[in-house]
Amino acid sequence: MEKRKTVLITGGSRGIGKEVALTYAKNGYNVIVNYISDKTDVEALKKELEENKIESLIIKADVSNEKEVENLVTKSIEKFEQIDVLVNNAGITRDNLLMRMSSEDFDKVLEINLKGTFLVTKAVTKYMMKKRQGSIINLASVVGVVGNAGQSNYAASKAGIIGFTKSVAKELASRNIRANAVAPGFISTDMTSVLSDQVKENINSQIPLKRMGTAKDVAELIYFLGSEKSEYITGQVINIDGGMVM
Ligand code: NAP
Repeated sequence: MEKRKTVLITGGSRGIGKEVALTYAKNGYNVIVNYISDKTDVEALKKELEENKIESLIIKADVSNEKEVENLVTKSIEKFEQIDVLVNNAGITRDNLLMRMSSEDFDKVLEINLKGTFLVTKAVTKYMMKKRQGSIINLASVVGVVGNAGQSNYAASKAGIIGFTKSVAKELASRNIRANAVAPGFISTDMTSVLSDQVKENINSQIPLKRMGTAKDVAELIYFLGSEKSEYITGQVINIDGGMVM
């Protein structure tokens, strides 16, 4: 019997990350889910994975903390020996206009979104290189491509992720490791639930497909990029935004 593949998803306890975890689980992968806050209901997710007879590991770690990332990856390798797919999904926003943005909020967003992606990628790649196989999918955003007023820190972190992804793709292609970024538009999750109905209506009117995306929309794309069906795709940024950015 062929060995089951393993996926590691950072920030997999809620929103897009949770849907990614469930999508890989349904497709027979071992699933490693990382999260950070105590209030997250990871027990419910663990139960859901167990009910589907999925081997899982659910680990608390701050992706911006190098020691915690090392522990996350070491524990993952101890349990599953290999990580075939890495989804760098953990991310936060601390929105404000430039003149009101504190340097703490700027740093925090860069630390978690961009440095976190670097730290986890570096730690996991060490093992992917030994196996000469792997697929890395990084969560960027359309605002990292076109910018957004009030999100200079977040947009900078996501633009950084795009440059990082392309560089990693070039560095690791010879080892048969692919790296791609997905750039979602507006997706219904906790992150966007803070937007008022008025703002959501305005957003929908600017989306050619006239609706916000779902976590499932994004998870299906991420699953495709982790699978062999995309084996000739690397270094790309794929927008998933109902046609907002063309
Ligand atoms: P979300 O619902 O707010 O979930 C964020 C996830 O990240 C949670 O699992 C959270 O863990 C985890 N997390 C936060 N800080 C962390 C840290 N320091 N270390 C480890 N995990 C951490 O977010 P989402 O909307 O699903 O977004 C997921 C990704 O897609 C993000 O990178 C986001 O920037 C990107 N994205 C989202 C949208 C959108 O419209 N929603 C659009 C474009 C891009 P806890 O549950 O433990 O707090």
